[in-house]
Amino acid sequence: MDILYSATKPTGKLTLGNYLGAIKNWKEMQENYNSIFAVADLHALTINMDSEELRENIYTQFATFLAAGLDPEKSIIYCQSHVKEHAELAWIMNCCTYFGEASRMTQFKDHKAKDKVVSVGLFAYPMLMAGDILLYNTNVVPVGVDQMQHVEICRDVAIRFNSRYGETFVIPRGIVPKVGAKIMGLQNPTKKMAKSEDNENNVIYLEDDDDTIRKKFKRAVTDSLNEIKYGDDRPGVSNLLVIYSSINKISIEEAEKHFKGSNYGTLKSETAESVIREIGPIRDKIKELKGNKEYIEKMMKIGADKARKIARETLDKVYKKVGLVLQANSN
Ligand code: AMP
Repeated sequence: MDILYSATKPTGKLTLGNYLGAIKNWKEMQENYNSIFAVADLHALTINMDSEELRENIYTQFATFLAAGLDPEKSIIYCQSHVKEHAELAWIMNCCTYFGEASRMTQFKDHKAKDKVVSVGLFAYPMLMAGDILLYNTNVVPVGVDQMQHVEICRDVAIRFNSRYGETFVIPRGIVPKVGAKIMGLQNPTKKMAKSEDNENNVIYLEDDDDTIRKKFKRAVTDSLNEIKYGDDRPGVSNLLVIYSSINKISIEEAEKHFKGSNYGTLKSETAESVIREIGPIRDKIKELKGNKEYIEKMMKIGADKARKIARETLDKVYKKVGLVLQANSN
């Protein structure tokens, strides 16, 4: 079976975008791949975060993975910082990446334009991510379109490493879900729904209660065209159609057919109810799991122990290839 690797960073509360663009697909994919899912906590340090908030987010994300149906018996589910090999391989990746190619990453450029002050860590984020993927001999990396450029740079660096030092890394490929690859904000449907959002009404959080979800969808921005159709000139309605179709596992065309002749109120309320049906039980389970941190920590350890074994083997191979001397008795 092919190996699959994917992760989310605990920089904020998980959103419906993370769920539809990532976690929902992971649950299905774990049946067909040897899957590895990580809470990418080292990535969260690339932005300045309150430590208590970060710690809480890490527990919540891990609980969300379990609540959403990721199965620790079938897949490896762990926290990135528990496997120190990630930080080690990131350094090697930094040394194999050109400054120019890293400078072209649009996510970094966007942050830089918005935040003015950015850390070197944020700049080096794609190289940490490349290491994450390569440590596990990954074949496929399911991501939303926003992350595709980072998978591309990972491939480029891995190919470069292999040609410089000899066959070492498996070259991974990124895969994007057909529907739900990019969920946009409800108030600003030209911008992706993101954890780092000031306007709460723009985002559905996986922990939102039913009434909040209904209210947010009711307020969702649409247009004055009064026709439920997908198109570039109608980003709000298109986004609602994408959400409705990816939750209900139908195509956009089928969703358009379903809503033919309906008004925007119906589109909003039916989409809200679909979302509630799907994420309501997950939200309740997250709450239950978060009440038992000891259990979460036990699951984290089981995952990290399995991940570390694979990661160490890859890293030792890499160290040898680049010319480092392995410590005697290193494991
Ligand atoms: P991040 O929020 O950067 O930790 O992303 C974790 C995963 O969720 C990645 O695979 C992203 O591509 C995916 N993702 C994040 N936001 C969205 C969104 N608005 N629509 C679809 N996928 C998303």
